[in-house]
Amino acid sequence: MRQPWRVAVVGGGIAGLAAAVRLRDRAPAGTEITVYEQSGALGGKLRTGELAGQPVEFGAESFLMRDPTGAESAAVALARRLGLAEKIVHPTVGQAALVVDGGLRPIPGGTLVGVPGDLDRVTTVARPAADADTDGGRPLVGPDADVSVGALVRSRFGDEVVERLVDPMLGGVYAGRADDLSLVTTMPALARAARVEHTLVGAVRAAQAAAPRAPGAPVFGTLAGGLSTLVEAAVTASGATVRRDAAVRELTPTATGWRLTVGPTRDPELVDVDAVVLAVPARPAARLLAGPAPAVAAGVGALDYASVALVTMVLPQPRLPELSGFLVPSTEGLLIKAATFFTTKWGHLRRPDGLALVRASVGRYGEEAHLQRPDADLAATVHRELSAVLGIPLPAPVDGHVQRWGGALPQYAPGHADRLAAARTALRAAHPTLVLAGAGYDGVGIPVCVRSGETAAEEIITALGGSAR
Ligand SMILES: Cc1cc2nc3c(=O)[nH]c(=O)nc-3n(C[C@H](O)[C@H](O)[C@H](O)COP(=O)(O)OP(=O)(O)OC[C@H]3O[C@@H](n4cnc5c(N)ncnc54)[C@H](O)[C@@H]3O)c2cc1C
Repeated sequence: MRQPWRVAVVGGGIAGLAAAVRLRDRAPAGTEITVYEQSGALGGKLRTGELAGQPVEFGAESFLMRDPTGAESAAVALARRLGLAEKIVHPTVGQAALVVDGGLRPIPGGTLVGVPGDLDRVTTVARPAADADTDGGRPLVGPDADVSVGALVRSRFGDEVVERLVDPMLGGVYAGRADDLSLVTTMPALARAARVEHTLVGAVRAAQAAAPRAPGAPVFGTLAGGLSTLVEAAVTASGATVRRDAAVRELTPTATGWRLTVGPTRDPELVDVDAVVLAVPARPAARLLAGPAPAVAAGVGALDYASVALVTMVLPQPRLPELSGFLVPSTEGLLIKAATFFTTKWGHLRRPDGLALVRASVGRYGEEAHLQRPDADLAATVHRELSAVLGIPLPAPVDGHVQRWGGALPQYAPGHADRLAAARTALRAAHPTLVLAGAGYDGVGIPVCVRSGETAAEEIITALGGSAR
């Protein structure tokens, strides 16, 4: 293998950047790493903006501190690697609410993304079906099977638990419906337990016991300076050459690696590299794979995406409840899907002038038409709905921002993990120096995407014949 290695990372989101850092740490010294990002900014769905003179997240807001096994999450490990561990802060108010019949009720504790391990604890918001979760003498889910989260929970706990708890909580992450989302990909710990346990209550408890949490240990963290500081620190640590406004439009195999076609159609740049980490969402990945690996492209490109908009408002002295925010079941008929009271939830964002930052997320899978309205209209609707849910007329905002994330959240249908494994196996066999990473494949969330990028980097190192340092 020619030295030094030249590795292209296509996509400057957190998966691509985590791959670049891992390549720098483990690939032979001198490896040339170049990150190609089609937009003008790195970070992808991590984007810290500014409102009322302080940093505010216009994309992802926080990360899980632990992974499903209970170990430190890959996001925390990356922050530590980048010297940012000291900057991790946790919510000061963790209690959130659910909108039920137009009013707010505290979200019951002890659930796994809304799936209860103790039915008595959720009766304040939903009535579980009586006696449906019986032991049928075999595991809930077969050894290789996948089902939708909604189908499993409906059959065991009834419709109300899905509609009032699981749907809004899963929807808070995926903007999709429990009935469409894969158990294996969206709730892997529960899926593992469901392959052993005979009741859903038993499976939830087993999954919780497999990842015990010290009492009071924080579930979420973020970085005091904003998540874009993670992006900047990763770029610096990777020592990568960064090419912004540089869309990769074609990948062509060569005798020794890959030729990238970069930039505008009329004036393309051709770049030869030894290996590629493809860290872009599934749709653009499928377009790039169509030439070198058409069957893999078809498998990867089948993934559907939901679009959302985040409406952030700066409100003078509003009377907000002591809650981190609220989630809205789709049955409530509101445009708002979730709201976060940033300045209540995060102590480091509280302001002496009493200005409050409130962010609402709008848009569910299949309801893209609701987003087809001007920003001002969207913001006015959100303001009206917030006032109605809180039961107080909120003051007029003094500033605001609407961030649209088109086609941003993958909708992993049941069977996604198997389809992806087959696509990866085929890609590895045909083209071992081209590796997929990111949310289009392994699941949404900063920790999952960091790990996905790191794993891709290690596969590239193995494929190029290097040993991990
Ligand atoms: C609104 C929203 C809120 C979220 N909130 C949270 C949260 O609070 N906590 C959490 O853990 N997760 C959250 N997530 C999920 C998380 O942000 C994502 O799963 C993760 O950031 C995806 O990272 P990625 O690198 O895989 O992809 P992306 O962030 O999508 O990055 C891919 C990059 O590739 C670039 N690209 C695409 N095509 C090309 C091309 N042809 N050439 C070059 N570049 C290209 C894109 O411009 C983009 O920058 C949220 C997601 C959204 C949309």
